[in-house]
Amino acid sequence: MLSITGLADKVRAGERVSADEAVELYARAPTALLGRLADGVRARKHPERLVTYIIDRNVNYTNVCVAKCNFCAFYRPVGSPEGYVLGFDELFRKIDETIAVGGVQLLMQGGHNPDLPLSWYEDLFRAIKERYPSFKLHALSPPEVIHLSRLSQLPVPAVIERLIAAGLDSIPGGGAEILVDRVRKLLHCHGKATADEWLDVMRHAHRAGLRTTATMMYGTVETDQERIEHLLRLRGVQDETGGFTAFITWSYQPDHTELAGSEATGLDYLRTLAIARIVLDNFDNLQASWVTQGGKVGQLSLAYGANDMGSVMIEENVVRAAGASYCMDEAEIVRNIEDAGFAAKRRNMHYDILGDPIFRERDVPRMLELATARADGDASIPEELRFYPARSKAGKQARTP
Ligand code: SF4
Repeated sequence: MLSITGLADKVRAGERVSADEAVELYARAPTALLGRLADGVRARKHPERLVTYIIDRNVNYTNVCVAKCNFCAFYRPVGSPEGYVLGFDELFRKIDETIAVGGVQLLMQGGHNPDLPLSWYEDLFRAIKERYPSFKLHALSPPEVIHLSRLSQLPVPAVIERLIAAGLDSIPGGGAEILVDRVRKLLHCHGKATADEWLDVMRHAHRAGLRTTATMMYGTVETDQERIEHLLRLRGVQDETGGFTAFITWSYQPDHTELAGSEATGLDYLRTLAIARIVLDNFDNLQASWVTQGGKVGQLSLAYGANDMGSVMIEENVVRAAGASYCMDEAEIVRNIEDAGFAAKRRNMHYDILGDPIFRERDVPRMLELATARADGDASIPEELRFYPARSKAGKQARTP
């Protein structure tokens, strides 16, 4: 095994690090050194000193979920009075608001709701594309695709094909947590997708021509070695397909969850981001997770390997339910990027540059508070739901006139 100095030289020379070398660097390299190494990798890939961001809306179309992951504070069981499904009209309204602030896509993810068949998603995607032809749908993480495959009894590639035909543009990398089955069993998320199943959805999506993102939620029950194993599994699929556009990592948010515990520190976040930049040598883009870490650590991320500030969030429901949610609108994100010495540019889901900050081009409403999926206490059931067959007893009852 090389010394830390030897490993640092290897990273500086642009050579790939092995699993053992990554574990050694992650455990023993001083934080400042890890940051400098990650920043060096970032600078080789992005020498132009630009930091990008996207204006989009993070919509959670339903909170009803049968998966019951123990780290999740967002879901409600089938039949819960607090369960909701958003109506098509509510979603159109959210898209109108997104477009008004310069937004170009919806990031749409939700619970595994047994009462929403594949045809509901297809009709929704078609309706959105008919009204907003150039608006993009970055939707349905791998476990949701697997849920739809089980519900419809169609193989995963067929589900992906049907969703693409209806208007799906890209798959978000949610639900990866840690891609090691020992950890997934402890988090009660092994049933929704094993590590192999998650990675296979991404392989199929890439083969079908979609680009996707990859994520890691750390800070629950995993070891440092398992974090590295997660990164190596992503690096392996990226070697095969080249289909991942970006990697995003965030820390587990423990409030109101069954698993409970405490949140990882900001220092752990920066070290984890830095080692990800070093290990994921075949990923172009790493996002800063300011929604969980706050603007200040988000800004520091730009010195620890990140080259993208992620999304100008207009809405957030999932980490807010678990006790964390910072808010920055476009002006605030741009201020953080520019103060760190970079130029700020708007991008699309493929990381193509769309232009300068939109608030400098035209007047846009300032968004100083994040919206929620539903107003508190709104228990309305969308009109169109009665056209779709429900699977659960509670769903069938709710749809009987
Ligand atoms: S993380 Fe997703 S799949 Fe798991 S319980 Fe929450 S909503 Fe359901």
